Amino acid sequence: MARYESVLESIGGTPLIRLTRAAQGLRPRIYVKPEWQNPGGSVKDRAALAMLRQAEADGSLRPGGVVVEVTSGNTGIGLALTAAHLGYRAVIFTSSMIAQEKRDQFAAYGAELRLVDAFVPRDHPDSLRSQGERFVAETPGAWLAQQYDNPANPAAHYTSTGPEVWDDTDGTVTHFVATVGTGGTISGTGRYLKEVSGGRVQVIGADPITSRYSGGDGSQKYIEGAGHFVHPETAVDEWPKSLDLGVIDRYLPVEDQDAIDAVRELARTEGVLAGGSSGVALAAALELAEDLTEDDTVVVLLPDSGRAYLSTYFNDSWLAAGGFTGPAPLTPVEGPTV
Ligand code: PMP
Repeated sequence: MARYESVLESIGGTPLIRLTRAAQGLRPRIYVKPEWQNPGGSVKDRAALAMLRQAEADGSLRPGGVVVEVTSGNTGIGLALTAAHLGYRAVIFTSSMIAQEKRDQFAAYGAELRLVDAFVPRDHPDSLRSQGERFVAETPGAWLAQQYDNPANPAAHYTSTGPEVWDDTDGTVTHFVATVGTGGTISGTGRYLKEVSGGRVQVIGADPITSRYSGGDGSQKYIEGAGHFVHPETAVDEWPKSLDLGVIDRYLPVEDQDAIDAVRELARTEGVLAGGSSGVALAAALELAEDLTEDDTVVVLLPDSGRAYLSTYFNDSWLAAGGFTGPAPLTPVEGPTV
């Protein structure tokens, strides 16, 4: 499709791009799926649109209503653009630490930002989550998206991302690799691919090494969007309901340095500029590919573009200050970033 009657129709339908130079010496065909080709610049446009449409359908969001989410990341952008198009007010509760550029992007879509100290314990009345929930309780017509526990999030990938991967590989895909934040992407896409292939497609969760999903201690976080981390003071170790554990065959833990190397290499050798969580997915896929054959086809989902990370993962002094080598951060990225 090359013509859409609205921006919302243009969500989804991202291509597959074969890796040639970055996959040299590896036997399987490796394709990446650049999700920044969605209008809001990330994979989360799919979930945002689906959650909002579901809320309209079940009556929890009505004309004149208010779209609310607690996020500082890509889901907020997806909701902001969808709300803008459909004429809803959008209010996003986010960490006071988010970058100015991101604030400006929310503002550009006309969304209201409520900046909250992300280090307040989650059960405290001033925490991000408490403030978001209180706002919704006190505001007539307000609807809270709750991407971590919203079935429309994985469903968006079951009905769009999964079929796209299957159709665009003519059913030859053997391995699907994705990072796990809320789990929406991997759960929905993975379930579809398992069903349509009769269980043949292997689903691999690429995970930052300290993330709880792959058995890490949840201690630290450099890569935004991917993994499950437990800040000792702020977070409760709760597994999202959007995550379907039964779909993931295995996790591959990835060191931050390897993710950064992978994504920088991808830009230099393929001309594909992807973000940090994409590096996690790609590093895992390249490791996996070493044990595969010419008969295998690996699809790697890249959640967002490197353009949002030019001053971090692609910046040598930022990397050096963080103790990372080569061409990493002074302080871990904190707060909700999904
Ligand atoms: N990477 C980035 C940059 C993201 O914003 C997200 C969304 N949280 C993910 C990976 C993981 O996607 P999901 O929430 O569908 O698991």
